[in-house]
Amino acid sequence: MTRRPYIVGNWKMHGTRAMLSEARAIDRAAQRHMKVEVALAPPFTLIHPIHREAEQISVGAQDCHQADGGAYTGDISAAMVADAGAKFVILGHSERRQGHGESDALVRSKAQAALAAGLRIIMCCGETAQTRESGKAVAFVKKQLKASLPAPADAPADIAERITVAYEPIWAIGTGNVATTADIAEMHAVIRKLLVDLYGEEQGREVRILYGGSVKPENAAEIFAVPEVGGALVGGASLTADSFMGIALAAGEPSDH
Ligand code: PEP
Repeated sequence: MTRRPYIVGNWKMHGTRAMLSEARAIDRAAQRHMKVEVALAPPFTLIHPIHREAEQISVGAQDCHQADGGAYTGDISAAMVADAGAKFVILGHSERRQGHGESDALVRSKAQAALAAGLRIIMCCGETAQTRESGKAVAFVKKQLKASLPAPADAPADIAERITVAYEPIWAIGTGNVATTADIAEMHAVIRKLLVDLYGEEQGREVRILYGGSVKPENAAEIFAVPEVGGALVGGASLTADSFMGIALAAGEPSDH
């Protein structure tokens, strides 16, 4: 890893203000582990309260709308989450692609809106179990990612700072089934090549690629030792400071690479 590992907690639809104490504990622990960049994406309602108190961690959103504003009941714009204190937004998570029918084209338009609002983005990609079993995982992820990321002509110059990719095989999310280190290595290498092809050697090499899917303190060190793994997007294990910071600690340990 050349850049600081990036460990991002995705709280999904978990957390009321009672969870603010957990966010505080994560922030305090992050201040003692500066070798790692720690971030949280809580539900929209907790972005501002966490941002207001946080001294070290950055706060992000789990989605945003592609439009600047307008008659979109129940939606929220990139500028609104930025105004609440969000510094980044997770886009294209499989729970939104599957549960809300988000297409690659829609995800790309959200990415454009988020970047225009000054946010960083974490672009998720990943295949289903069926796609992996049919031997088409690599082709699927390449196509999905290429169609979801901003086209090179629309990308900001500092792409490596603004964009992170998260590889999250759907069958590994929330299931306890982690991809093998060989599968992670293969897919991260494919993603790296795609990023270099799209954005050029200098920027494409520097984009961090996270792994996501049942990462826990117990398996984190093994995953972080895989080449091209620049951190993790963590769901379930990010809900307590103990388990989340256990993962961050593993990311801060020197690896063999
Ligand atoms: C996620 O949903 O982004 C995720 C990786 O979840 P979990 O860690 O619970 O598998």
